[in-house]
Amino acid sequence: MEGRVDERRILDRASQLAGEFLAALPERPVGVAVEAASLRATLGGPLPEVGEDGLGVVERLAADADPGLVAMAGPRYFGFVIGGHHPVALAADWLTSAWDQNLGLYVAGPALSVVEEVAAGWLLDLFGLPASASLGFTTGATMANFTGLAAARHALLARAGWDVERQGLFGAPELDVVVGAEAHASILLALQYLGLGRERVHSVPTDEQGRLCADLLPGVLAGCRGPILACAQAGNVNSGAFDPLEAVVEQVHARDGWVHVDGAFGLWGAASPRFAPLLRGAEGADSWACDAHKWLNVPYDCGFVACADPAAHAAAMTIAAAYLVQDTGERDGVDWAPEFSRRARGVPVYAVLRALGRAGVRELVERCCDLAARMARQLAEAPGVRVLNDVVLDQVLVRFLDPDAPGDAAAADARTRAVIAAVQRDGTCWLGGTTWHGQAAMRISVVNWSTTEADADRSVEAILRCAGEVAAVA
Ligand SMILES: *Cc1c(COP(=O)(O)O)cnc(C)c1O
Repeated sequence: MEGRVDERRILDRASQLAGEFLAALPERPVGVAVEAASLRATLGGPLPEVGEDGLGVVERLAADADPGLVAMAGPRYFGFVIGGHHPVALAADWLTSAWDQNLGLYVAGPALSVVEEVAAGWLLDLFGLPASASLGFTTGATMANFTGLAAARHALLARAGWDVERQGLFGAPELDVVVGAEAHASILLALQYLGLGRERVHSVPTDEQGRLCADLLPGVLAGCRGPILACAQAGNVNSGAFDPLEAVVEQVHARDGWVHVDGAFGLWGAASPRFAPLLRGAEGADSWACDAHKWLNVPYDCGFVACADPAAHAAAMTIAAAYLVQDTGERDGVDWAPEFSRRARGVPVYAVLRALGRAGVRELVERCCDLAARMARQLAEAPGVRVLNDVVLDQVLVRFLDPDAPGDAAAADARTRAVIAAVQRDGTCWLGGTTWHGQAAMRISVVNWSTTEADADRSVEAILRCAGEVAAVA
């Protein structure tokens, strides 16, 4: 056993190693070229028969992991939708681990239960959601979607006289699930978890930006016989486009249905008056999912779900057992998220919201979107480069045409994929690819607090340089 003296030495060393990693983060190659086999060679081996020196273990872990660490938290990582970590969020996360409170129950962690309660209130305020809504912290938007849809399943079936938590789904009234054709895969995964079926959905066609077509919704709703559970999204993972939330809410509520909004990153738009109009009508929905590890820049992992019907939310999540103390009248984490024992992952949210304030979150969102627009503008000015989407938020889709055959779609697909691979090898920045409405595209997502105009410009230079090199080779 390490004693407390060793504990302090180990933690100080870990802090020092983390500091060295963070200091080098902005300039290390963003992607990694390492093979899994070489990582296994240094990190693997048999389970030690006897324990090793703790300080040595920490030092070796940092050294051996290093070649395989992606500079994902750095300023020029534009892949997927990935935030970094604001320094205050990281510090609060460290303290959260040191405190090691189990937030399943209020009695197990009063201070941090109150911290999460306060953070929950601040988030509802920031997004303009009803103050009476419930809010639970989850591992991410996938589980936030799961939780919101579980609350919906409860409420819709309870209204039909069915207690799904007790009775299960066999023999239950059938729900009609409505999704936009470009719903995020995690919505379908949540439906899979909930026994509602990934493919047993009514799909509403989307427009050229990836928005659910509100004018086609009435036809889809007309084909629904049972209670309606509709999933809309704020922020298409490719284009950043927003479904017409006001129209969806109005039409689905006219049928007594439930509207869940997947706003994993797009909900943050509500923090800025510039982007809030994209979310018009969102506050009228029934549940909302969002990520804090994306745009709020807290370390992995943290998302949250809000629900306009706290009773449905709690009914879908809560647990009861004789040894539990749940009658304190205070906030028990287990009522609002799928986990029972859980980390106080709302603490970094609280800390970074305090550090940024309403004005700081707004500035963060606007700055990232300005940088995305700047990159889109610079790229679109280059010959043979096309920006495929309206850059309404932080997401940009870019396609590279073949200079010798600009009208050849297959050549543009091949060239776009080659440019993406070249940029990933180059290491100045990192971004990934997608297929957007049948066309290969490069995805740029800007949600890191530390990205500057210089980072954006340097990344555009690298992208265009790689595109030039690919052209020269082809
Ligand atoms: C990222 C994302 C999710 C999934 O979030 P996780 O945090 O990875 O669980 C869901 N929906 C959208 C629109 C997303 O961008």
